[in-house]
Amino acid sequence: MPNVVEPHPDNVERWEGDNGFSRGFGMTNHSYSFDWFDSHLHLAYSHFPNRFRGPQIQEVMDRYFRLTGVYHSARAILMDPYLETMEWARSDPRVHVFWWLTWGQADQLPEIKRRVGEGLIQGLKFHTGDFRRTRGHTHTCMGTKEWHDVYSYCDAMALPVCLHLNQHWGDQRYAYGRGAKEFWASVDYTNHDLLTFFLEDLAARHRQTPWILAHMNFMGNDALANIFDEHPNVYVDTSIGMFLREYDWLTAEEVTPYRDFCLKYADRIMFGTDAFAYHPLPTDYPGHIRNWWLPHQVFITQLGLPQGVLDTITHGTCEAVLGSFLKQGR
Ligand SMILES: [Zn+2]
Repeated sequence: MPNVVEPHPDNVERWEGDNGFSRGFGMTNHSYSFDWFDSHLHLAYSHFPNRFRGPQIQEVMDRYFRLTGVYHSARAILMDPYLETMEWARSDPRVHVFWWLTWGQADQLPEIKRRVGEGLIQGLKFHTGDFRRTRGHTHTCMGTKEWHDVYSYCDAMALPVCLHLNQHWGDQRYAYGRGAKEFWASVDYTNHDLLTFFLEDLAARHRQTPWILAHMNFMGNDALANIFDEHPNVYVDTSIGMFLREYDWLTAEEVTPYRDFCLKYADRIMFGTDAFAYHPLPTDYPGHIRNWWLPHQVFITQLGLPQGVLDTITHGTCEAVLGSFLKQGR
């Protein structure tokens, strides 16, 4: 069995430094990230459509970062449709906002340009559920001329786009996921058709746009590796895809393929949780952090990655993808 535990770099230094006086002290300290940038966060539950005003957003987000700060998380990208959120976040270097648009909003290009130009948003977010829920609509609505005009602007600006593209086949109860078998049985296109359309009509035609597939696109490592090799502008976030419950563990056989995948493609993988910063309880009870945010950290930490690779996934790739839109001065 391969040794999958990488020591913290400090251990290596202690081994020889000071004539080896502290050699072996703290030798079980593994590599660990002290900077977690959550690339996929929500302010409220999607089925809990409350809109917050600036002071409420401040209160919710301050509390959220206080709770996740225990785990060294201090930055996030919010997927959000509301101007109030964007206006609040403009002056907060911890928070980036990707404007969550629906597929009926292709006419918003002038407003996208305004919001990008004024520092209100740092990317766009789309969810194919928006057309999957609309009777008679198909994935080709992603490829209209109006949308290609939007993507061309993203290309010119290297503006990141997060896309929830595909969908579960079966349920994933371990991570609270509901499958979509009934949906796929009711339409005349497949997950594969949807992916192919995206890769050929969107990713390959707009190569300067960083396309982030949310939830590892519900695909395994080998299939994602093929996409990464073919499409250098495609990334994934780890939400739902790399999820390990507290006190659960990965076997060595499970660690190896994920570890190899992360070693090879760290610069295409962004730590993300799909967590909700707002919790509708008048309490600081951190259950949602432990049941949702933490399993994503636990998974990636258990892979025993070298320090540099771990830091790339926990924040480096996200910073690179944001590029000139990365906020300074946190
Ligand atoms: Zn989400």
